[in-house]
Amino acid sequence: MSIKMARRIVVAGRVQGVGFRPFVYRLARSLGLSGSVCNNAGAVDIHVQGEAGALEAFEKALIEDAPPLSRPAIRSRSEVPLDRKEQFDILPSIATAGADVHLPPDLFCCDDCLAELQNPTERRYRYAFTNCTQCGPRYTIIRDLPYDRPATSMADFEMCPACRGEYEDPGDRRFHAQPLACPACGPQLRFVGKGRAESVGEAALAAAVSLLQEGGIIAVKGIGGYHLVCDAANDDAIAKLRARKKRPDKPLAVMFPQSGADGLDAVRRAVQPREQEAAVIADPKRPIVLVRKSADCALSPLLAPGLSELGVFLPYSPLHHLLLGDFGVPLVATSGNVSGEPVLTDNAEAQTRLSEIADGFLHHDRPIVRPADDSVIRVIGGTPRLIRPGRGVTPLEIELPETLPHPVLAVGGHMKATVALGWGRRAVLSPHIGELDSARSLGVFEQVIADLQALYGVDAEAIACDAHPGYASTRWARGQGLPVLEVQHHTAHASALAGEYPEVPRWLVFAWDGVGYGADGTLWGGEAFAGSPGDWRRVGSVRPFRVAGGDRVAREPWRSAAALHWETGAEIDAEIAEIDMVRQAWDKGINTQATSSVGRLFDAASSIVLGINAASFEGQGPMMFESLARDGVEAIALPLIEDGDGLVRIDWEPLLPMMRNQRLAPAERASAFHESLARALVAQVGRIAERENVDVVGLTGGVFQNRLLGERVIRLLQDRSIPVKMPSRIPANDGGLAFGQLVEFLYSCGKNPDESQAGNRWP
Ligand SMILES: [Zn+2]
Ligand SMILES: [Zn+2]
Repeated sequence: MSIKMARRIVVAGRVQGVGFRPFVYRLARSLGLSGSVCNNAGAVDIHVQGEAGALEAFEKALIEDAPPLSRPAIRSRSEVPLDRKEQFDILPSIATAGADVHLPPDLFCCDDCLAELQNPTERRYRYAFTNCTQCGPRYTIIRDLPYDRPATSMADFEMCPACRGEYEDPGDRRFHAQPLACPACGPQLRFVGKGRAESVGEAALAAAVSLLQEGGIIAVKGIGGYHLVCDAANDDAIAKLRARKKRPDKPLAVMFPQSGADGLDAVRRAVQPREQEAAVIADPKRPIVLVRKSADCALSPLLAPGLSELGVFLPYSPLHHLLLGDFGVPLVATSGNVSGEPVLTDNAEAQTRLSEIADGFLHHDRPIVRPADDSVIRVIGGTPRLIRPGRGVTPLEIELPETLPHPVLAVGGHMKATVALGWGRRAVLSPHIGELDSARSLGVFEQVIADLQALYGVDAEAIACDAHPGYASTRWARGQGLPVLEVQHHTAHASALAGEYPEVPRWLVFAWDGVGYGADGTLWGGEAFAGSPGDWRRVGSVRPFRVAGGDRVAREPWRSAAALHWETGAEIDAEIAEIDMVRQAWDKGINTQATSSVGRLFDAASSIVLGINAASFEGQGPMMFESLARDGVEAIALPLIEDGDGLVRIDWEPLLPMMRNQRLAPAERASAFHESLARALVAQVGRIAERENVDVVGLTGGVFQNRLLGERVIRLLQDRSIPVKMPSRIPANDGGLAFGQLVEFLYSCGKNPDESQAGNRWP
């Protein structure tokens, strides 16, 4: 006779909203085990009993055969007394405060659902809101946790008998799929167009496709917000979109029909994805991936003027599959927003605020609770690097290297804003919010802060922010009545990188970016720090130069170009109307600031070499400059100068005559510029390593979104057997600051919050 025993197993990790309970149910039943499973405080609580061998098999399969989107981890297991239960059941969720909840990101449309969508005999044939336990929206529809239908924006859609049957059938793949729906009971499409009859369902989709074929622009409501969509091969449509959106040059992302064995046939007709890039494009996260254009790309040259890469992605919701399938060729799909703001989510607000841009609107009636823009990834040095955190990726969970003494909110920077919440050893990074310049941006910023704390059941007891007094996030932080830690911008970049690789003891991190508020009151942006979080020492920088114009410097690269000339006694010959006036201001030091920013050096180079004097979007000059450059060229040696404090600075002066040399083609100058900076960084590493113990060199900051520069530095360091790391899961740009602020908090005051640190403000 076999021995029966009973066991309680608690499984934590990502087990909510990914079909984990139904999986447990089916697994237990298949092994002839009895008991129950329920959600308990964010974990899954399992009571299971039966024969010892079956129990062992159950526990093994619980992890090894878990649903693909889950990330289970057994938190505890214990022997418990047998009870009289004879079958296995799913019990209602138990909600408790302080829950160990995991909020799933929005998922793509899985293969099973896609097959149903395309099968005329299925009742969900061509239904734009098809989903199951393994796919569909999550973060953007969840109002409250635990994750059950009444706590989502599907609450108002009452299930029809057929859907309810699937929902309640443990053998069905839609068992407890919270957003499940069908044409009879779920959300519907609605088309509204200028001078056109309003239509719903199939007719709405057909109206949208026909307007796109006529060269129209449509605002399409997706998962995390609206896209502005038009034909990616139609120059007139794209020119119209650019003119109406007042976005003359910024690259537009393109969504491709999913076709061929790996889904990438259409993608490969326009761009040349390397193996790693192809894998990221096809990933269930469905990010936008930056990939080199093909020489014979038949799409419009207006998509990414002056750039060698195109942002490409595959459809990720059933609606996108239908739209791309019916239209047949790639579509521009850019965020439906007002420049710099979060993507729009509300039907009425989108229709009002995009009325001057879109010719028609493809709405639906499933509310989006909070925005999530598309994520953006670039592969650099063979590793995918997150450029913009968003739909499919966020809320992004990162384990902290040590335990926070109390919950902390980090509010990031000002541009590319994100926020991060930390408690215990957990940190969660929000999606990209945008630039904090408008009322809507600030509204979403506050909503995300409130939502994250409410959903995870965590109340922040301290705030970490940037040290820049002018950032909206800093002003907000100071107004909350909580202790505030101000973290210098570039040490936050360094700590974000260090937080991603906690195994590294001593770093030498290069934080190269646009500008950030420096500890000495100047604008930093070419800094190198030795040490580790909470203990960074600035050991390297760039020869400072004074730039006139305040906030206009970022948008007017010629100001940086002029600064390099005047700083070295040279005259600039650019045709700029205000140049004499600015020169006078510069001479007198009016509205000028010293900076050591490498981002500004790139701005200057793009102005001098390419004549880009006004940038219509952030990073335009440097991006076009990078696109021109190639590797395998000679570098110009840049001297290292040491100031009184032993700070090793790169002197950029020898670059100036090279940049001005008209006998060299712009591509040659761009190439030499990149190679010279890469080699100067490596020389700086050598000099600093003479007196600092360095285990690993880190490369971060917005400048290291530059693939050529990053790959050259990585190669040069590897040739010298120097270990090097760049951020991968966390953005190198300001989107990663919030996470870095959390890490910095953990080490500079987290362990001892009563001790005030130099430069830190504690009431
Ligand atoms: Zn599915
Ligand atoms: Zn239904």
